[in-house]
Amino acid sequence: MKTIHFLAMCFALALFGWTIPRTVFPVPEKRSMDEKAIAEAAPYLALSPEKYIELVPKEGPAPVLLDTEAQSSAYNGSICPFCGKTGKWLKYDLVADPEHAYCVQSGKDIMSFPVDGKDTFTDYNGRSYERAYFITPYVKPIKPNTGNVKVYPENYFARERIEALLGIYYGGALMPLARAYYATGDEKYAERAIAILYGFAQVMKAYPWTVHSAAKPQPREKLLACAERHDSGFHGWLGPARLAAAESNFRNPHEAMYFSNICNAYMMLEPSKSWKGQKEYVLENLIREGSIHFRAYGAKQCVFNAIGMYAPALFCFGVVLQDTYFYDGFIKIMDDFLYNENFHDGISTEGSIA
Ligand SMILES: [Zn+2]
Repeated sequence: MKTIHFLAMCFALALFGWTIPRTVFPVPEKRSMDEKAIAEAAPYLALSPEKYIELVPKEGPAPVLLDTEAQSSAYNGSICPFCGKTGKWLKYDLVADPEHAYCVQSGKDIMSFPVDGKDTFTDYNGRSYERAYFITPYVKPIKPNTGNVKVYPENYFARERIEALLGIYYGGALMPLARAYYATGDEKYAERAIAILYGFAQVMKAYPWTVHSAAKPQPREKLLACAERHDSGFHGWLGPARLAAAESNFRNPHEAMYFSNICNAYMMLEPSKSWKGQKEYVLENLIREGSIHFRAYGAKQCVFNAIGMYAPALFCFGVVLQDTYFYDGFIKIMDDFLYNENFHDGISTEGSIA
C-alpha cells in the first residue's frame, strides 16, 4: 500500500506544476517525411513570406455590424447584410484570390457595395483609422424602427483573412505549413509559417478586446484588471475577444482555437533557422500578449460545453510560457472533466470538438 500511495503522490505532484513539459514537439531524431502533411501544405507555398505578413490585418476585425438584434439573422450570419439573400454568403480564398472577398449569392466583391459614410476607430496603440460603412436594410436593429444597422465590409474582410491565415477547426495556412516543416525540416515551410506568426506579433498589442457588434471596445485597463483577478465578468461564449472579436458567437472559444494553433505552430517551428531573431519577439508580442485574454477568462470551467475548444489553449500557454497558472488550471479542468464524464451529466463534451 505504501508504494501505491507514494506513486499516487508522485503522480499528483507531477501533474500539479512539478514538471511542465518544455515542448510538445521535440525535434525528432528522424523527420517523418509524412506525405499527407506535405500534400496539405503544398497550396500554401504559392504565397511568399512577405505576402503572408502583408495579409495580416493591421487593425482588429470588429465591429462587423452595429446595433443588431442579438437573435436576428445577422447574429448567426445566415443572411448577407449587403444583398439580403439568405444561405452561406461570404467566400474568401486566401491562396487563389487573397485580395478579395465575395458575396456568393450576388457574386459581388463585398468592398464594391455602396459606401454610406465613414467612422473613426482607435486601436490599443492609440492610432486612429477610418472604416467605410454601408447601412443595411436587411438586418434587424436592436430597437424596432431605428433602421440604421451599419455594416463594415473591410472588417468582414479582415475577419476572413484572420480565419484563413490561422485556421479555426481544420482550415487555415498556419498549421499545414507548420506540420509540413515538422515532418520534413524543410525551411520553405518554416519561413512562411514564421511570417504569419511574425505578422500577428506586429499587430496583437493594437487589437482591442471587443465584440462583433460594439462601436467601442472594452478599454485595455479593463482587460488588464480582469486578467489580474482571473474573472472577465462576461459570458464564456458571448464576451469580448481580440483575434476572434468579429465572430458572431463563440468568440472566446474561437480565440482559444487560434492560440492553440499559434502555440502548437510555435513549438513545431522552434528549431527552425528561419526565425532571423524574431522568435523572442513572437513569444512576447503574440503569445504572452495573447495570453492576457485567457488570464481574464481564467484557467477554469468558464465556457460550459465549449471547454473542448477552450482548454487546449490553456495547456499550450502553460507549456510555451512555462506558466503554472495555465498548466495547473488545465490539469484541474481535466480532473473535473473526468469526474463529470463518469459520475455526473457528461454535458462538458456535448457540442465540443474534444
Ligand atoms: Zn450578398
